[in-house]
Amino acid sequence: MHVTLYGAAREVTGSCYLLETQSSRLLVDCGMFQGSDRLERQNYIPNNMSAEKLDAVVLTHGHLDHCGRLPLLVKEGFSGPIYATAGTIDIAMLILSDAAKIQKDDADRENRRRKGQGWASISRPLFTQHDVELVSKLFRKVEYGRWFHPAKDIRTKLVEAGHILGSACVEMTVFEEGYTKKLVFSGDLGPWDMPILQDPARIEEADLVFMESTYGDRDHKTLPETVAEFQDLLKAAFDNKGKVLIPTFAVGRTQQILYHIAEMFRQKIVPPMPIYLDSPMAIAATELYSRHSELMDQESRLLQSSGQLRKDLSTLRTCVTPDESRALNNVTGPCLILAGAGMCNAGRIMHHLRHNLGLPGTVLIIVGYQIKNSIGRRLLEGANAVKIFGETIKVNAKVKSLGGFSAHAGQSDLLRWLEPMASKKPRLVLMHGESHQMSELSYKIKESYGLCAESPKFGETIVV
Ligand SMILES: [Zn+2]
Repeated sequence: MHVTLYGAAREVTGSCYLLETQSSRLLVDCGMFQGSDRLERQNYIPNNMSAEKLDAVVLTHGHLDHCGRLPLLVKEGFSGPIYATAGTIDIAMLILSDAAKIQKDDADRENRRRKGQGWASISRPLFTQHDVELVSKLFRKVEYGRWFHPAKDIRTKLVEAGHILGSACVEMTVFEEGYTKKLVFSGDLGPWDMPILQDPARIEEADLVFMESTYGDRDHKTLPETVAEFQDLLKAAFDNKGKVLIPTFAVGRTQQILYHIAEMFRQKIVPPMPIYLDSPMAIAATELYSRHSELMDQESRLLQSSGQLRKDLSTLRTCVTPDESRALNNVTGPCLILAGAGMCNAGRIMHHLRHNLGLPGTVLIIVGYQIKNSIGRRLLEGANAVKIFGETIKVNAKVKSLGGFSAHAGQSDLLRWLEPMASKKPRLVLMHGESHQMSELSYKIKESYGLCAESPKFGETIVV
């Protein structure tokens, strides 16, 4: 049996493992590369993956860097089942459809440019909504904790990963030539004790572990500290009648932020004020979360089923159309505006920044990672002015970053996840991280459990 790595090897995106036994071939994840032109050029299905000869795909969760190459796989001839939890199927469909739309818009824009310059070549999107629909027909829903057989010699179980709705770690037992081997793929792991989702499941043993290492070099700020800072900012904004802008990631982060706001209103820590959710994608994702309360932790399930959450968030308004979004320019504070994109590099948040950064009462709360050279990053670094849509905007707003809302486990939680398996001394492969994060985590793992971790490159094959 062997496993070949077709992504997320010494980098964070493109998760994709090809497992081959004597009689079966299957993929765990089939994610997209994101972040730079160099990475995006890797968004294809390598020939030696032989898409049409794959038995199945097992999906850890619905983020694009884990499912984004599925439409390409289907275009290359894959027609087998794609196993995932119900939450993952819904999130993956939402995210893939959004990606198809963005690619179509980008290709249309590029084609207008080429036409204007008299070029004959045509830019085509990587995949279309039609391809996404073909993927949707292949999904097979599986429940957490139930064994299923994606191939005749492979038994598989998905267990909670605590990262986003429906996210799972994959436990796989392979029966080959009279012996059995247990493989574990962590997928993306969430932190312990986060609201809404359950904690990552305890996995007792494995012969080979593929483990993510996105934040392998550090711990995040604690959640209670982060929530306390968030409360202080909202209280001050209420007193100053300020507008609070929160650039959000649609899936996971938005729902968590809403959860904390609801709690503050319920406990009368912050007086209720209007909340505008100005992102069709985040509105759709929030709707999916509320439809899948069976995948949440007990507290969130109860808040949903009793109607308490809806009561707490009675001041929440959703803005679907561009007109509804534009109308927020005339709204006065105190209020909260949650809009995408989370990295302040596109989307409706750009308009809100343009209109409000110059006003001293505005508070901009950054709740996620901001890439280098992005407007979000420049604002965090204290820029006095930023350029938005070609216009220079003076910054009089207060800009604050809250560090503890990550959907990824920090170093201590990664070690905690590995601990039950570590005593049996499995072979360990670190994935989904950059070299600095991986080497820091490797060092800690060696120190804590005496295990030596490997960090293979893209295309390398691990022979078991
Ligand atoms: Zn993820």
